[in-house]
Amino acid sequence: MIKLFDAHCHLQDPRIFDSAPEIIRAALLCRVLYMAVNGITENDWDKVKQMGEQYPSVIPNYGLHPWKSQFPLKQIDNKCTRYVVGRSSNWLESLRKYIEDTPAAAIGEIGLDRSPLAKGIDYQQQLEVFKPQLELAKEIGRPVSVHCLDAFDDLIPIMQDIGPFPAGVILHSYSGSAEIVPKLAELGAYFSFSGHNMNDDKEKEKQVLKLVPLHRILLETDSPDGLPNNMSHACCASKTSSMSTNQTYNQPSNVHIVLNYIASLLEMPKEELAQISYRNSIQLFSYPGSKVCKEH
Ligand SMILES: [Zn+2]
Repeated sequence: MIKLFDAHCHLQDPRIFDSAPEIIRAALLCRVLYMAVNGITENDWDKVKQMGEQYPSVIPNYGLHPWKSQFPLKQIDNKCTRYVVGRSSNWLESLRKYIEDTPAAAIGEIGLDRSPLAKGIDYQQQLEVFKPQLELAKEIGRPVSVHCLDAFDDLIPIMQDIGPFPAGVILHSYSGSAEIVPKLAELGAYFSFSGHNMNDDKEKEKQVLKLVPLHRILLETDSPDGLPNNMSHACCASKTSSMSTNQTYNQPSNVHIVLNYIASLLEMPKEELAQISYRNSIQLFSYPGSKVCKEH
């Protein structure tokens, strides 16, 4: 029977937080056995910690995102909530404390973004926030979930400088070119695919996938974002959730849709890709203190 692992999502996001119990129930019914829930701001680390304590299937991750806010995106421009700009003076000590207090935790979401999404966010400050988080992941030997948009030219030398990363670096919703895949893989990267990738050029995606080593491939939803553009392969069990009738926000059960899409590009049976990606996620998230169960 298929088992899946949503390697990157945000169930603490205020847009879906109230539905989290229902969303997690639907995911489990759909055999999505684990969800790596990524904090994005100092303000939501506590919520992520609590979810990790409450749900055996939630892997807590703490990180400071380059621009995302816990406020609705449209408010970002009006409020002083920009990530790297609005951080507290002791954000890094606080991050370290959360990680130390949570043996099951990984790091994420952190990142670099030169795309229009990060317009107006000072890039130097992004670097100042990104590097120490990557160093922390290296130091404590935990996986780290990285958002990288239009910034691979910077990411590669930084990874070369700080790495290697035996605990793994997850390049979430991988958007880089096929050419740099081998270099990134050599540096310890895992390549994670989501509904965002379904909007990319199919041929480009195929070229990327051809070069991704099978032991480095992951699947994710990035929920509540990354809603797949074609819901035809949704898991039947998730249709019992009220979230599914309201198709505004994405949820972990939709990792089945990503599975179908990526398996079709790889020309591989979906059962095989499910097995490979699940095994990769389990290995990646099996550090000392982790809550994943290899026998699951
Ligand atoms: Zn994310």
